[in-house]
Amino acid sequence: MRVAVFGHRGKVGGVLVPALEGEGHEVLGIGRGHERDLAGVDAAVDFTAPDAVVENVRACVDQGVPCVVGTTGAELAGVGEEARARGVVIFRAPNFALGAVLMMRFAVEAGRHFPRAEIIEFHHETKRDAPSGTAKATAAALEGETQIHSVRLPGLVAHQEVLFGGQGQLLTLRHDTLSREAFVPGVLLALERLSTLEPGLTVGLEQLL
Ligand code: NAP
Repeated sequence: MRVAVFGHRGKVGGVLVPALEGEGHEVLGIGRGHERDLAGVDAAVDFTAPDAVVENVRACVDQGVPCVVGTTGAELAGVGEEARARGVVIFRAPNFALGAVLMMRFAVEAGRHFPRAEIIEFHHETKRDAPSGTAKATAAALEGETQIHSVRLPGLVAHQEVLFGGQGQLLTLRHDTLSREAFVPGVLLALERLSTLEPGLTVGLEQLL
């Protein structure tokens, strides 16, 4: 496949590009300020920034190129509608790490049995959005109001705890992303499955598992 990577020089992009090439894909890196010319591209991947992702996805929609989006902190519903009207597939996951997706699934199960939950998410200090997309998705999947606490510190990558409080007991689910290689298999899976998805916006790696 010929894959355009928006944000190829970023922390995730820098890990993703060699991994894609290692799988035999040809990569076209597109950085900030580069022309969004997708001629000859089979699919695109976006790991950029909240203020960049919508225009990148719109360029994909305009040029009929399906896109896998990892960037968090921006609303894609509008451009997703445009994609549906134009017959283009957009796939977005707030977290491409399999363990984090399983943590969300187990949290839903635990939430059925505990009256209250709170989420603590921990990320590296340069993460721009807070709370994280994963924390928001976890909270949305749980019944009732779930408070989210965000920590931004050097030394962290991406970590989340979901705490369930009950009478005389506490259950903690925790996932740690220790390096950005954790996102690679999920992105590869999404690229592989793009052609099986309905046009428009599909959200969540769990849709592909
Ligand atoms: P990063 O290190 O800041 O990298 C972002 C890259 O995007 C930079 O190289 C930046 O270029 C580039 N960029 C900015 N605007 C652009 C534009 N208009 N077109 C093309 N490239 C542009 O960030 P990161 O840690 O890799 O994370 C990127 C995004 O992915 C964030 O939103 C983060 O929250 C999200 N993320 C999601 C997952 C997931 O599993 N879904 C996992 C990790 C991260 P410059 O250096 O020139 O500014």
